[in-house]
Amino acid sequence: MIKVENLTKYYGKNIAIENVGFSLDEGEILGFLGPNGAGKSTTMNIIAGYISSDTGSVKIGGVDILDDPSAAKKKIGYLPEVPPLYNDMTVKSYLEFMFDLKKVRMPKDEHINKVCAMSKIENVKERIIKHLSKGYRQRVGLAQALLGDPPVLILDEPTAGLDPAQIIEMRKLISMLGKKHTVILSSHVLSEVQSVCDKIIVINNGKIVADDFTSKFTKSGRDTQRIRLVVEGREKNTYGILKNIDGVSEVIKKGETEKGCFEFTVESGADVRRAVYRALSKSDCTILVMSPIELSLEETFLNIISGKYNENGGGF
Ligand code: ADP
Ligand code: MG
Repeated sequence: MIKVENLTKYYGKNIAIENVGFSLDEGEILGFLGPNGAGKSTTMNIIAGYISSDTGSVKIGGVDILDDPSAAKKKIGYLPEVPPLYNDMTVKSYLEFMFDLKKVRMPKDEHINKVCAMSKIENVKERIIKHLSKGYRQRVGLAQALLGDPPVLILDEPTAGLDPAQIIEMRKLISMLGKKHTVILSSHVLSEVQSVCDKIIVINNGKIVADDFTSKFTKSGRDTQRIRLVVEGREKNTYGILKNIDGVSEVIKKGETEKGCFEFTVESGADVRRAVYRALSKSDCTILVMSPIELSLEETFLNIISGKYNENGGGF
């Protein structure tokens, strides 16, 4: 459905992206993961036909974006990092305006009602855009991207700046849209792309540094496990017990959380949760909290760069 080859883009003398390429089948959700400045927006702007690249090509459903920009763009709904909203318009009049601008040939009222229902903004249709919360504004941006029913959706950091409840709502919406659309979504949050996407591409300093399926990423995360523990019992005693468990590589004291209860971070090469439970209960220490700590994007990057990822069967 989407074939991107060898994209390179310079801003003056600075290279923003270099040799970026990937392909995506119909109905897949691709996560474009990378820290700020990695080149995510640049790549998405090129794929959506907003800016041109210096080299490389983008094909959407077999149509080259440079050969036939209007045909290729018709297949794409784009939600840029900052949604292109007109603040003084009502939601409804803005969507009507964008409907005309995109030259959509569908029954107007019916179609606008449909995209509002999909984006869950029916209750704010008559409101003026500048009075809406960030979460709603983002959904209005999404409704705009859905106009004309494009098969491909490109969403640039759709959850950035939203509060936790709004993030959950937006992820649900994207998963639902992924059933019918091919979606490219960018994010700097690993857990987000893990929960929503079929495929992940990691980009750093303008280059793709990892390109793989989510399950393998999850596996690479699991190979260095980390758990958070809160235990009732003497700190020194508990520390000693944890240190002696087979497979535990490091125990970090985090201090007293409430009277007589101490927090620890336990790092290990394998799953040690059961061994931790057995060792502590044998010594009459009560576990109050035991929860996995997810590796951050930075740590996953470090794993990838240090070669750990490859050793563990990542394979790229
Ligand atoms: P991301 O979306 O991953 O945060 P961007 O694609 O926005 O990254 O930026 C990639 C690099 O290109 C950054 O170093 C950024 O400073 C630079 N850049 C982006 N847009 C412009 C521009 N219009 N002019 C000059 N440099 C830019
Ligand atoms: Mg960006």
